[in-house]
Amino acid sequence: MLAIESLFPLDPRYRQLRAASEAHFHTCFYCGCIATETDFAPPQDHWGAYANHGQSADNLQVPSCKECLTLLKGCTMALVQQRREVVHTKLTRKYQKAINVYLRWSEDELAELDFSLKHSIDAGLQLGQESHRRSNYPGFPYDVDGTVYPVEQIKPQAVVVFGERFEGLKAALVHASKTYGLSQGKLAQGLELHNNNLEAVILHLQREQQQASLERELGRLCGAFAKEHNQSRRYVVNAVKRYMERDQELSVHQALEKLYQERVQHFK
Ligand SMILES: [Zn+2]
Repeated sequence: MLAIESLFPLDPRYRQLRAASEAHFHTCFYCGCIATETDFAPPQDHWGAYANHGQSADNLQVPSCKECLTLLKGCTMALVQQRREVVHTKLTRKYQKAINVYLRWSEDELAELDFSLKHSIDAGLQLGQESHRRSNYPGFPYDVDGTVYPVEQIKPQAVVVFGERFEGLKAALVHASKTYGLSQGKLAQGLELHNNNLEAVILHLQREQQQASLERELGRLCGAFAKEHNQSRRYVVNAVKRYMERDQELSVHQALEKLYQERVQHFK
């Protein structure tokens, strides 16, 4: 097969970024799809501006796919890493819905759906998986004029959750959902609010769960207390909450006991 690079005559101002191993020939350096085009870092019509101002520029021709090249339209950045970040941000934004479906749905949940819904979510899930992979593509080791540059790593970035390592975010989400009994959808949603810190999301959701179960417990005990002592339930709930706000160590039982000692027994 003809190397993609040879299809594009080299602009003498640029050097060619070549895949160091055969496995990555004809691969888009930005997203890992098949490369049919060439991207220039910086763009050819901005080469002069960088050269004249002595600003750092890679001056590389980069194998790229058609979509990445389109996403880079108007991007004047001169470093390959910067251009890759632009592509990844734009890919994530473009396929956000599908990526959300991919991150939020687990295979188990999918199996429970009826056929037509399963079918449409399945399609979104596949597109989401592909988009997620492309927008996290780390590039490949490359060669410029005989010097090999090892790109950070080829494997997707590992996600560590409380000391356990996972190959990628999806695996970490599935694990966290099963281990902590939290909905995968809520976990994925929480990532946007917690700067993609999965541990922070887990802790936050656990606190929410504890809060909700405390509220239920409080409601149940206050209801029983109100009935027993012929008081309004709302009065008991509010009084207990006030006691507990003033003394954070107090349990619901202790707060009710206090309420009984200080107020209720005098009504009798
Ligand atoms: Zn691409």
